[in-house]
Amino acid sequence: MGMEECVFCRIVRGEIPATVVHQDELAVAFRDVRPQAPTHVLVVPRRHVASLAETTGEDAPLLGHLLALAAELARRLGLASGYRVVVNTGPQGGQTVPHLHLHLLGGRAMAWPPG
Ligand code: AMP
Repeated sequence: MGMEECVFCRIVRGEIPATVVHQDELAVAFRDVRPQAPTHVLVVPRRHVASLAETTGEDAPLLGHLLALAAELARRLGLASGYRVVVNTGPQGGQTVPHLHLHLLGGRAMAWPPG
């Protein structure tokens, strides 16, 4: 799939509407359209990276930025009692959109193990 059609690239470019909660030079965060918890935000890099499996040590600054941003958003969105950050990776990992994204889930108790 090209970056022209990638749904998260299109959100990053403002071509598809999304409820954006944060934007900076490296990342965009927006509400998941099918929330799985009272708070469900996706944190995506502006650059098209297909999945976590495509990243290397060179991407460590970007990955660090995304993770730190998830923590900052959790604070800002009032998830003081806890939250979960998930990166579904590849078909067996449950990834359905092939553009790297962190799920920030909170506002309810999370079960373990995940399904
Ligand atoms: P994953 O299954 O981990 O790849 O997660 C993809 C997530 O993207 C799912 O939770 C979808 O609900 C969400 N999603 C798909 N399209 C959109 C969209 N246009 N706006 C917001 N969230 C979306």
